[in-house]
Amino acid sequence: AALREGYEHFDPRAYLRNNYLPPRADFSSEEFVVPWKLRCLAETFASGEIRGRTLIDVGSGPTIYQLLSACDHFEEIVATDYLAVNREELGRWARGEPGAFDWSPFIQHVCKIEGRGEPWQDKQRRLRERLRRILPIDVHRPEPLGAPLRPPADALLSAFCLEAVSPDRAAFVRALAHVGNLLRPGGHALLLGALGESFYLAGPARLPVVPLEESDVREALAAAGFALRELRSYAMPPALRTGVDDVDGVFFAHAQK
Ligand code: SAH
Repeated sequence: AALREGYEHFDPRAYLRNNYLPPRADFSSEEFVVPWKLRCLAETFASGEIRGRTLIDVGSGPTIYQLLSACDHFEEIVATDYLAVNREELGRWARGEPGAFDWSPFIQHVCKIEGRGEPWQDKQRRLRERLRRILPIDVHRPEPLGAPLRPPADALLSAFCLEAVSPDRAAFVRALAHVGNLLRPGGHALLLGALGESFYLAGPARLPVVPLEESDVREALAAAGFALRELRSYAMPPALRTGVDDVDGVFFAHAQK
């Protein structure tokens, strides 16, 4: 209940400013956190192993950076979020409306690290074409979308959502199992998330986060029925500890249902 109440005050623009503008979104060096996240995704999708008809992104928030490497490998990308304000922010970007957040530096960076010489506008167009559904979701329900996804997703992505909406580790495991229900057996799951974080800010909202260690991520994936393929982590450098949260680092997990 406290979490739900907190999210009523979530300000998408403040969240974007805190996390997706400099200093965190600084593309001049791979040592910054946003380039690290983009590289994890680019390298994982570069194998060509993770592909199919549908990819679902759980708790997309107001962001699309997490879909930039993914969108080349799926016919449809389904974005989801609990909050209408976030779904509206995403819709503005998908329709190319004025006032939408400018993701072009992210798209340019991903095209650069993917190294195929693709013009960034082509990737932007492809993601907008494939991002056809932006759905409400609640990961605390066994049926997070309110009904089963048919056919189930071929891949599942979730960035900085499950630990940021779960009061404790048990709830994190349950949420992971719930979203796992959206994925077909054998489907790939990619998770990005916070390590050692107890709160983050989004304007007037101060959201509690369950602090996780790498071992918690491993155990939660196993308990929710996933086989771990890869786990990487990043230590937040002092210069990026800006007071918008108390995050120690970031994990990236690739697992299979
Ligand atoms: N994926 C984005 C946003 C993460 S912020 C990124 O990588 O930055 C956490 C998100 O979880 C917010 O957008 C919030 O609206 C969403 N959220 C809050 N409660 C939720 C719930 N019960 N189920 C699913 N998502 C929820």
